[in-house]
This record gives sequence, structure tokens and C-alpha cells, in this order.
Amino acid sequence: MAELRVPFFRPSIDDDDVQAIVDTLRSGWLTSGPNLTALEKELAEYCGASYVNAVNSATAAMHLALAAWDLEAGDEVIVPVYTFTATANVVVHTGATPVLVDVRESDYNIDPLAIERAITPRTKVIIPVHFAGEACAMEAINALAKAHGIKVLEDAAHAIGTFYHGRPIGTTSDAAAFSFYANKTITTGEGGALATNDEELSDRVRVLTLHGMSRDAWNRYDAGGSWRYDIKEFGFKDNLTDIAASLGRTQLRRIEEFIEGRTRVAQRYFANLRDEDLVILPQFDEANRHAWHLFPIRVKNEESPVQRDDVIRELSARGVGTSVHFIPLHYHTAFKNLGRWQPGDFPVAERLFAGEITLPMFPLMTNEEVDYVCEALREILHP
Ligand SMILES: *Cc1c(COP(=O)(O)O)cnc(C)c1O
Repeated sequence: MAELRVPFFRPSIDDDDVQAIVDTLRSGWLTSGPNLTALEKELAEYCGASYVNAVNSATAAMHLALAAWDLEAGDEVIVPVYTFTATANVVVHTGATPVLVDVRESDYNIDPLAIERAITPRTKVIIPVHFAGEACAMEAINALAKAHGIKVLEDAAHAIGTFYHGRPIGTTSDAAAFSFYANKTITTGEGGALATNDEELSDRVRVLTLHGMSRDAWNRYDAGGSWRYDIKEFGFKDNLTDIAASLGRTQLRRIEEFIEGRTRVAQRYFANLRDEDLVILPQFDEANRHAWHLFPIRVKNEESPVQRDDVIRELSARGVGTSVHFIPLHYHTAFKNLGRWQPGDFPVAERLFAGEITLPMFPLMTNEEVDYVCEALREILHP
């Protein structure tokens, strides 16, 4: 087998992306301005939400939504244990308590039954995470939330372009946070957005995004804008620059092409690995559209002569970059230091983590590269 090097991820940046940034640099307006406003409008059109606030990360988008809902000490927020730490960190930063719950073995997504068991009179928000770009069971989650007067904030970092039962993520709960981090479906380098149909939430988030300044202060540097502004409350500094927003706009124009490329890669992985008995391939609901941010597989450690960590090492030796999504939150020091969880508390997440490897996935990945990864994997699993 010819040696190839296949990175875990390679960004799709074209001449239009470069030109958009150059144009913005030359325009004389670098920070939040006309490109931000245009990006927000175009994102709202794309995902079907009435309001979009583009900010400097998905983490900021989630934190701002929780802050706008006035979370405070004693409030509880239900978060899956199988996620990136940002999902829980933002809860801690509001003073509220993250309540970790287990996920489903089938699709790694938060388990509605586990949510139901975790709800208390103090529960204020549920944050489902659409793992890898596969939508969570939003109908069940929204029904639980409604019955208990709880808000739902989707961590949609993997899920711009995902559809749940025909509806785009962004219209599927109280609010959804997208990420435009370097390796996400579309990128602004660093960036994110909150999509919602709730005008009040969007307005409050806009004020909190820029120091708590009154809304009309956003254009204080425009010709005709006033120097006078008022600080309505103590906000943050989470705004997105126009440099980043202009990249977001050209990236968004190609989002369907990106998702098609990722879907092609996923289909080729399925075709190539269908008969490989030592790995478990991702499962998904045919009624959804999967955005294929990640392609997670699981090594059957009990049956395989080679264990997960060694498979990763061997793939790396053959030039294949991989990652692991995710290290369950209760395994991390900061979470252990809270003293609330023990190993064994989340059996499904622990089982998923033990075998999980995320294979390379990006729109420009060639069929030859996919075949090389699969061939390398098979060689390693059958020494
Ligand atoms: C990438 C990611 C985030 C954070 O996104 P940023 O834009 O980097 O803040 C949050 N949650 C999940 C599940 C992610 O994968």
C-alpha cells in the first residue's frame, strides 16, 4: 500500500474567502459592522431562525444565552457527560450547577430518559449536544422541557446544516449555538452564533455581547452615530469582527457543497467498513439530515487483538491523523474536583469513550484518502 499522509482535518479556504478578508481589511472597517449584520441576516435565512446573533465563539453564544436567562447560583442545567467541556464550563461561569447525564449507545446523543430522571424543581435549562452532526431527540426533549417549564439551548457546534425530522437546527428549540471554529462545518477562524425565534432573547444577548451597552451604541462610530452611550448592565466582550464575519459570509455560500463533500466521505467509510466486524459504525436516524462534522467509530476492545489506544498509535505511524470525541467530562480534573461524580456513574459514555476513534473527515478528502484510512485500519485490526 502506497504511503499517504491523511490529516485529521484540512480547511476549505478558496480565493473568494481570501478576497473577502482582503476587501474587509481595505474597507476601513475591521470590527463588528456591515459584514456582521449581513452575516447574521444570511445565517437567519439559512437556518430559518427569526434572529441570529453572531459572536466570537459557540462558547460565547451559549454563555450569553444563559446569562440572558438570568441563571444564578442554585439553578441547575442538564448537560450530557459526553461532550466538549465548553458545554458545561459556560454553566459554571453563570454560577449555576451543571448536572451531567448519560447518553445513548446508538448515536452518542443525550438520553431523554436520563434527562427525565435528572429534572428537579431547580432545573432551568437543558443543553442537548448534536453529536457529530446527528440531531438529538428534540421532540422528547422539548416535551420534557415544556412539561417542567424549562428552557432548551442546543449546543449545535457540530450541527449547522443538520435537520431534525425535516426542520433545520436553529428552529428546533428556544435557541441553538453554532460554532465557526477552524474545523467546524463553516469557519471564521474563531466564531459562533446564537439562533432563536425569541426577539427578547436576541436583544438581551446583543446588549450583553458588548459590555452591556445600549443597543444603539453599536453604531456609535458611524457617521451620524452619537458618541453618547449608556451601560444598561454589566456585559461581556464577545463580539465578532467584520474580518471574521466576511469570511463567514463566503463560507456560508458554500455550506451545501461542504456538507455534500462530508456526506460523500461518510458514505465511502460506510461502504468500505461495512464488513469490518471489529468496529462499530455510527448509527443515525434516516428522518434526519446528518451534517457529518465527525465520523466516529468504535473499536470492539473485547474482541479485537489491538486496543483503541494502540489503533490510534498505529494509524498515526501510517500517517493517518485521528482524534477522540469525547473524554467524558467526569474524567477531567476540574470536574473531579467538584466531588460529585465517580467513575462508573455514566456507563454508556464510559463504554463509548473506551472504543471511540474519530476518523479524518473534511470536504476535500479524496476517495483515495478514505480508502487509505480504511485499508490502514483493517491492516492494524488484523495483524
Ligand atoms: C467546538 C465545540 C464547542 C465550542 O465551540 P467554540 O466556537 O470553539 O466555542 C462547543 N461544543 C462542542 C460540542 C464543540 O464541538
